[in-house]
Amino acid sequence: MSLDLHDVTVTLGRGDSRTTALRAVTARFEPGALTALVGPSGSGKSTLLAVAGALLRPDRGQVLLNGTDLAALSDRERARARRERVGYMFQSGNLLTGLTAEQQLQAAASLAGRPPRSLRARARELLTEVGLEHRLGHRPDQLSGGERQRVALARALLLQPELLLVDEPTAAVDRTRAEALTTLIADTTRRHGCVTVVATHDPVVTHTADSVTDMQQHTAAHLSAVP
Ligand code: ADP
Ligand code: MG
Repeated sequence: MSLDLHDVTVTLGRGDSRTTALRAVTARFEPGALTALVGPSGSGKSTLLAVAGALLRPDRGQVLLNGTDLAALSDRERARARRERVGYMFQSGNLLTGLTAEQQLQAAASLAGRPPRSLRARARELLTEVGLEHRLGHRPDQLSGGERQRVALARALLLQPELLLVDEPTAAVDRTRAEALTTLIADTTRRHGCVTVVATHDPVVTHTADSVTDMQQHTAAHLSAVP
């Protein structure tokens, strides 16, 4: 199991705003390990996550998730790979208003076409794993920011993704919470054996990570616009 990007180039935008967001990037990410993806703002971290998570098809190159080239799939197959093989955790948690912690996971199961009942035990197990067994019935407005992020982590893991992608999880939290969240993501990654990539600026994350990938080692002239 691994995620391998080989010679991946991504161009975004049109006309004057056309930009090479990733230029011939080659990188490998190992399973059961948290890799911190670092680099200045605009260096292509979010774009790399989008390509790795099959949200975006590169202009060139291969994106091998356990041997499947996501870049070579049709749109339909890519949507399926994204649904079944990738878990995302967004910065804000991105929870649905009005649903309890447990219902957030049920909704994710339904969206993926899985009967929520079949995943009920697993949903509870995951919420327990992230320390929220006493918050199953709480809605987002009844949870703290850190608790909302933990719900989002449990939700991202529900369908046993091979790949867990996290974009700047600690950008809006204090140091103590950043440390707790990063440790939780790292421990969960080891337990589940998924490939975890966390885009970050935060030394707390790079310190805890099993490895660090610097965008600047992998891209040249990353900010240049395509002529
Ligand atoms: P990071 O996450 O490291 O801050 P991004 O992956 O968001 O970097 O962006 C990489 C580069 O691509 C930046 O120069 C950004 O301005 C550019 N970019 C991002 N989205 C678009 C878009 N839709 N159109 C044109 N350029 C874009
Ligand atoms: Mg970004």
